[in-house]
Amino acid sequence: MNEAKTLLFLEDDKDLQTLVCAFLREKGFRVESARTAAEARTLLAKMPVDAAIVDGLLPGVTGADFIRELRKTQPELPVLFASAFWKDLKSHELLTRQLRVARIIHKPYRPEELFLWVNQLFTKALPPPPPGPRALADVDLVRDELAASLVALNQEYGARLKDKVGGLETLLGDARAGKRDALEEATIVVHKLHGTAGSYGFTEVSLSAGRLEDVLRSAKDAARMDWGQVDATFRELARAASVPVKPVGKPAPAAMLPTEGVLLVVDEDAHVLAEAERLGKAHVVRVLPARTANEAVAVASKQWVDGVLIHMHLGGEMGGIQAAHQLRSVEGLGSLPLGFMEGEGGLEDRVAAAHAGASLFLPRPFTAQDFAAAAERMVAARRPERARVLVVDDDPEAIAALVHSLASEQIEVVGLGDAHQLMEALAEHRPDLLLLDVQMPGPSGFDLCRILRSTPAWQELPVLLITAHLGLEFRLAAFQAGADDYISKPVLKEELRARVQARLERARLSRERSERDALTGLLLRRPFIEGVRARLSEAQRQQRPLALCFLDVDHFKRVNDRYGHLAGDRVLTRLGRLLGARFRREDVRGRWGGEEFVVGLLGETKESAKAILSRTMAEVAQMTFDGDGGESFGITVSAGIAEAPGDGATLEELLRAADARLNRAKTNGRNRIEV
Ligand code: GH3
Ligand code: MG
Ligand code: MG
Repeated sequence: MNEAKTLLFLEDDKDLQTLVCAFLREKGFRVESARTAAEARTLLAKMPVDAAIVDGLLPGVTGADFIRELRKTQPELPVLFASAFWKDLKSHELLTRQLRVARIIHKPYRPEELFLWVNQLFTKALPPPPPGPRALADVDLVRDELAASLVALNQEYGARLKDKVGGLETLLGDARAGKRDALEEATIVVHKLHGTAGSYGFTEVSLSAGRLEDVLRSAKDAARMDWGQVDATFRELARAASVPVKPVGKPAPAAMLPTEGVLLVVDEDAHVLAEAERLGKAHVVRVLPARTANEAVAVASKQWVDGVLIHMHLGGEMGGIQAAHQLRSVEGLGSLPLGFMEGEGGLEDRVAAAHAGASLFLPRPFTAQDFAAAAERMVAARRPERARVLVVDDDPEAIAALVHSLASEQIEVVGLGDAHQLMEALAEHRPDLLLLDVQMPGPSGFDLCRILRSTPAWQELPVLLITAHLGLEFRLAAFQAGADDYISKPVLKEELRARVQARLERARLSRERSERDALTGLLLRRPFIEGVRARLSEAQRQQRPLALCFLDVDHFKRVNDRYGHLAGDRVLTRLGRLLGARFRREDVRGRWGGEEFVVGLLGETKESAKAILSRTMAEVAQMTFDGDGGESFGITVSAGIAEAPGDGATLEELLRAADARLNRAKTNGRNRIEV
């Protein structure tokens, strides 16, 4: 089946090593095992391997560090990473993108599962899913191949479990008595139990070991440990180890979705803040008050906000604009919907606000009605960024449990009880991810998955299958049906969230990569055109104007020639970032190509767009750049603006008009805007 591929299996737990090696060897792999990084190094120096399986936590070194080291000599070696910790997305990204880990496997894993992923490493292109009956025959074959030796290994491990638990009890006692290193040792034992017991099928032992590990790790030292909790969790573990039975899933009670919006209001006047809070309550909007820009940044960095309303003349000055810039420069808040409140502002204020990215104005003081309308609009603007997950399960209680586990401020969950309605539900809700129960009356999760994979519109939709079975049959079938991942019941909340979020994040990244220019972070030409077309028809419907602007860096060739191509790139990156950070959420910004940028401003005329762009260009003129040779220099930009419907009703007409004006700006001396 496999032409004797050689695998490096790096795992410090002997029991898991025995089990996995036996299984993989049975499947025809050559397995070279190592228990420490040093052993692995020696091995690698002696022989080439075709792939490596690396444990997340090794004696004295993390798996990630080991892989980083490995990449220096083996940049292309396929690597699977096995971890008992579900870490944040940052580490997921570090592992998969930087260290190019092919897959992160959640410990405890079954040897069958590991085998599937190992196999996948060597079969780049998946064969098309075979028809159902044959797939099942394959599965039977594989199951029959399961050797009696593996069963024996399992029994042996079960028999030794009691000793392990006894040893752990002693260690915990020592740790409690203050004996040095005992706590550390106990934690290692528990960590291994968590990772290994599940692989041998002792699910409940693995789960309670995981809980005990959390308790042990939550305190820095033995003196600060909550020993009552340690005892309670240990007793659970000991009980589970004496009666190894598989638990039956019991769904948690359904919780209400957090549906309220969250609006940050920044105003130095306590009365205004109090009134906003009062009105917010009446409209299911939670108002977070802040008196200064710094307070606002502190609030928004700590928790989710849907939008921010700022007093334009914060502290009596135009401090609101500064506050807006400050907020939007916080990581993740680059496109936070902004609104300004002000008494009576002139055109100057309005232009400044639009440049800063304000989507709306609210008179200050405000009426209840105006405030409600403003709050609603701002909250709605941010909400579409929430990812939507569609859950299909015939059991309403199971749906409720999944909603309870998953729904958050970033994830909206929609349930569907009747699998026959799937296509309609997809069209209606346009989810970012699908969770499918496998066993349902009518079409099974496998069937639905196959159907989706052959439907162009939904081919790319991430699909996670949920099943009561941990068995090999299931995993194989899921794989063949084209599921992206699978998860077993009882569904652990953390695991579910981590898996869903990892999938959503990956889907988002690949979407962004295909739509955005890497150098500037702005939309590429085609997605820009799509975005502007949509705004244009919106403008026509609402009988509002739309301004289309072309911007081009002056004498950019000279920048490259004098200061270097890299310096040129840095100019483009910073311009892209500036354009990305200014303007309103709904304004479309793109890189047209080379050093040309495009911006579509909904609701603006040529004149107001010119006023807005003048501010941008003034900001550009203030910027200094570093040349490749250490010099510093500045740049200027020229722009041409066209307006719908005045200059034309179609995008093509507008582009032509704006381009002609850009050319005029160039011939008229550059560093100017022509309308
Ligand atoms: P003008 O003021 O008339 O616009 O003069 P210009 O030199 O800016 O215009 P021209 O179109 O003649 O030259 C544009 C230059 O931009 C030529 C090209 O090498 C450079 N360029 C295009 N894309 C990139 C890029 O991604 N990075 C860098 N560093 N340079 C680029
Ligand atoms: Mg140019
Ligand atoms: Mg050019």
